[in-house]
Amino acid sequence: MSSAPDRRPVLVFGAHPDDIEFGCGGVIAQETRLGRSAHLVVCSRGEAATHGQPEQRVAEAERAAGLLGASIEFVELDGDSHLEVKTVHAITLAGIVRRVRPGVVLAPSPVPNQHPDHARLGQLVRDAARLARYGGVHELRAWLPHRIEQLLFYGLTNESEPGDVTPVLIDISTPETVQMWVAAMEAHASQTSAKKYVDLQLARARLRGLSAGVEYATALFPADPLVYPSLAGLGRGARGF
Ligand SMILES: [Zn+2]
Repeated sequence: MSSAPDRRPVLVFGAHPDDIEFGCGGVIAQETRLGRSAHLVVCSRGEAATHGQPEQRVAEAERAAGLLGASIEFVELDGDSHLEVKTVHAITLAGIVRRVRPGVVLAPSPVPNQHPDHARLGQLVRDAARLARYGGVHELRAWLPHRIEQLLFYGLTNESEPGDVTPVLIDISTPETVQMWVAAMEAHASQTSAKKYVDLQLARARLRGLSAGVEYATALFPADPLVYPSLAGLGRGARGF
């Protein structure tokens, strides 16, 4: 028995204009290459950053999204470096979930290690995914309730990955996927000119990949246990050494 492929969009949240590309851009490239649409939601314009003006950073993110084959929108919450976990923000993000109606949602890890906005946005997206399915939330009545299938977290660094969750590894080894990912990261020239962010992310994916017997892999951390209809749908175990 084979089931039809899931063609619902993947919805990806980032706190700053470059987070999505650096954290899980390879996964997005892989999905859009395989025919799934991807929509990126960036929750600030990077206005608190040391490098790059907001207009430049927005333009870089728009170009990067295009290189990944994704659409993009910006939403103003509290602004860069001022994000707080508030119900009103979760409701705003839940409205986006209802409008886009994704299967998979990706969000930054809620582990508070990196930029504080990252972990707070991870918490807000987790709350938003829940509120999106509650029919009685009056602020959300413009859209039908929506139940996502999976929420998975991505890390910007190894240190921000949830240490107590076994990740799902997405094999992004296809050369075209890696090329799209690198181009999207390099589109953030205001950031890559300051630090070796591209090298860092490629090295992370290379280590994950080699450890699992492929060239490159991105680790995603499920917010909940994943449910499979049978053993047949399971991927293989990663152990390669
Ligand atoms: Zn960031």
